[in-house]
Amino acid sequence: MSYKIYLSPPHMSGREMKYIQEAFDSNWIAPVGPNIDAFEEELCHYTGSKYALAMSSGTAAIHLALKVLGVEKGDIVLCQALTFVATANPIMYVGATPAFIGSEPVTWNMCPEALEDAIRHYVRFNKKPKAIIVVHLYGMPAMLDEIMFLCKKYDIPLIEDAAEALGSEYKGRKVGTFGDIGVLSFNGNKIITTSGGGALLSDNKSYVEKAAFLATQARDRAPHYEHSEIGYNYRMSNVCAGIGRGQLEVIGDRVKQRRAVFELYIKHLGACQGMIFQQESAGSHSNRWLTSMLLGEAAHAERVRHQLQSVGIEARPVWKPMHLQPLYGECDFFGGHVSEPLFQNGICLPSGSGLSHEEIAEVCGMIIECLV
Ligand SMILES: *Cc1c(COP(=O)(O)O)cnc(C)c1O
Repeated sequence: MSYKIYLSPPHMSGREMKYIQEAFDSNWIAPVGPNIDAFEEELCHYTGSKYALAMSSGTAAIHLALKVLGVEKGDIVLCQALTFVATANPIMYVGATPAFIGSEPVTWNMCPEALEDAIRHYVRFNKKPKAIIVVHLYGMPAMLDEIMFLCKKYDIPLIEDAAEALGSEYKGRKVGTFGDIGVLSFNGNKIITTSGGGALLSDNKSYVEKAAFLATQARDRAPHYEHSEIGYNYRMSNVCAGIGRGQLEVIGDRVKQRRAVFELYIKHLGACQGMIFQQESAGSHSNRWLTSMLLGEAAHAERVRHQLQSVGIEARPVWKPMHLQPLYGECDFFGGHVSEPLFQNGICLPSGSGLSHEEIAEVCGMIIECLV
């Protein structure tokens, strides 16, 4: 399917080719090389994380985050229900059991009360969860103070799935740096891209070293090929890291542009009845990767989406919560009735950083026409 306005297309800075050319000129066409080292350093500088490991995808980074935290077969991992399936699948890769946590209505992310209910439930059965995965959905920072308080209170490590949230801040600090481990994605539709890729962030050197070891086939220190653990081939290529370097140079602009897109939607639609946009909690600053909103009724969201599609404008439904997926239907779920209507009534609007005012006006005109 091709659209005239895409949901979130890649937006090149024009500086990527220089780094790719360097990779070719130096013949570092491998998952090792100077662009990778520099990209990791630049990610640390931008996010404030002490260490970063560039990887082949965000999904791979979540997988190794769980491995590094020692999550194993039979362990419970608490995971935000309202998210993309790639947040949850790595829990299955390591043989652990996911239990899903519903949303609060402000940021649409993990509800702290539901999280505490879940922790207490498993503690009561002597099955204290081995890790918690919180998501900053569509770039919107979750209620981190409340969630981190619970992580400390019950001594459970936190993985932050910041795949959609590079550039978002909470109380002046970049998200992805609050958890024991943070995860970024540079897939083609994210705020910046390496065509495909991800990163693992942590202030804990031993976590990042362990992840680097596992990401490169877990080769033991020996002159020959010696292996005592199962490893993976999860590093980023030096060519892709070159794209990432050219993209990271403009991340500040990209956050401003996505936020400006959101502001224009508010300007055009803010006064319309029954439209509720995802909101920043106190002290948070979203990268507004995708502008997402709720329409009064489920039927409206579907009608709007189809109408937009019929004129070549790509909009998407909000993620279908994991506990409603055939894949995860048997799993435990904690927390109320917020996630389901977010899915049923929600819609993600075209949010690319290259959108023009006219294009946004056109999208809004279609939405209003469709609802009157
Ligand atoms: C994109 C995404 C991922 C996975 O990242 P990939 O780089 O595509 O593997 C994980 N979680 C969320 C919330 C995402 O949006």
